Amino acid sequence: MNPSPSRLTALGTPPTVSSFDHDPQVWKDPRGREGPRLRGAAASHVGFHREENEDRFLLRPDAGLFAVADGMGGHEAGEVAATLAVESLADAAQPRVELPAQCLRQAVWEANRRIQGVTESLARRTGMGTTLSAIWIQGGRAVIAHVGDSRVYRLRNGRLEQISEDHTLLAEALRGGFDPERAARLFPSNVLTRAVGIQREVEPLLVDCSVQPGDRFLLCSDGLTDMVAESVIAEQLTVRVSPTQAANGLMVEALAAGGGDNVTVVVIDAVSA
Ligand code: MG
Repeated sequence: MNPSPSRLTALGTPPTVSSFDHDPQVWKDPRGREGPRLRGAAASHVGFHREENEDRFLLRPDAGLFAVADGMGGHEAGEVAATLAVESLADAAQPRVELPAQCLRQAVWEANRRIQGVTESLARRTGMGTTLSAIWIQGGRAVIAHVGDSRVYRLRNGRLEQISEDHTLLAEALRGGFDPERAARLFPSNVLTRAVGIQREVEPLLVDCSVQPGDRFLLCSDGLTDMVAESVIAEQLTVRVSPTQAANGLMVEALAAGGGDNVTVVVIDAVSA
């Protein structure tokens, strides 16, 4: 697959694309240890079957904080929920925090509170919610906070690893030991067991992981993972040199496969400072 600009253009409306290349000076952890330089890119596209793009992404390279949110609910509720979620995270972003996991957890609670507040004030927005997958990179460590079925992956030495866990009926059944074939018959893959804003309280999955120069992280909505096989995602992330090329390559794959949903990808490279 060739993710050239002309190929993206041929697929219709171009995606929203942003990129960054951040000064390594900032990448010190709370103990003053310098971490890898971060380069990255994000792309988002409405796809071919939805009228609105209810995905949102957050790039805060100054703080090392990145996120994807995939909103749900009719009457523009999904856009509102996803926007509130990334805004809540952005409000928590600062270059160095002692306890990023606790900060992320509280930001997810705040997002939940804000979305619930809007739901209560507008009856027609009942059911408004969003997924939220965030990564906070500080020095050589990262914390992810995750709710829903967007995903966080890390590519290291050519191997792609999903760091988040899907909060879906199917994924929960598989984790519970169900036979995969039987689980696939019994449980839908698109029904969430956790989302931000749906219930009074929400607990994010929190995962701590290491960050090494050469690592490439991917945050994405299910508009990518429902359309594109993990092996193809791994191939694109391996073959494409720059984060922008990788984001475009993944977008081309999702759209060429039908673009059945909004598609959002954020690619972050940890590079030697
Ligand atoms: Mg989606």
